[in-house]
Amino acid sequence: MSTELAVFGGSQFVGKPVITDRDFIPELLKINRFALDCGLQVHVTSSVRRQGVAVGNSIVPPASRSNHLIGHALDMNLKLDGRFFNSANLRKASLRRQPKPVRDFIKFIRDDSILRWGGDFSAEDPVHIDDGLNQRDPNLWDQKLQIIQRELINLGRPQAESGEPRLLFLERPFMVGPDVRRVQERLIELGERFSMNPDGEFGHVTDRAVTAFQGENGLEPDGIVGPGTRKALGL
Ligand SMILES: [Zn+2]
Repeated sequence: MSTELAVFGGSQFVGKPVITDRDFIPELLKINRFALDCGLQVHVTSSVRRQGVAVGNSIVPPASRSNHLIGHALDMNLKLDGRFFNSANLRKASLRRQPKPVRDFIKFIRDDSILRWGGDFSAEDPVHIDDGLNQRDPNLWDQKLQIIQRELINLGRPQAESGEPRLLFLERPFMVGPDVRRVQERLIELGERFSMNPDGEFGHVTDRAVTAFQGENGLEPDGIVGPGTRKALGL
């Protein structure tokens, strides 16, 4: 049962749902308020991430101590009046040429005492925002890693008691299984525009097809195959 992971929705948040550690929600609310004050939207492309290797007692090399692994980070594009501002627009060298609301939003993040903007990292990552927990409290980061990664794995598993199908979505490593193949086959049946190789692997092509299908069917285009999308697919 999930105790730490939550799905965050904010009035200014669009794109992928933010799957987050509950402890990061106050920061997300702050980000939402900054966006509201600036009159723009935060289009989320990525939040929590699965570790590519067994969590167990394995030692994580420092370079991969990302706050994405504990649900304390997000990657985003900004959206103002229907226009997207991506990594190329947001990088330091081009930021000054962007509209004031975009510059103001980044300034709010940078001026915050806890939040960090990836544009300030030595390897510039202007679409990234986190709370720096990996540096502020490495021990807590270690504890979070165990809990969050375990919950994340369980999130993608069938619920043992209820027998409900697992949620399907794009993550690394890709989700694989006959349930993914069924979704792919169903999408292919529904039209040429969803054409793909039904390989049972939930990769980028499947993610795009699911998102397009959801958009066409009045569902939240979040790329997550849950009960609503399953029903709409006739599964
Ligand atoms: Zn990131």
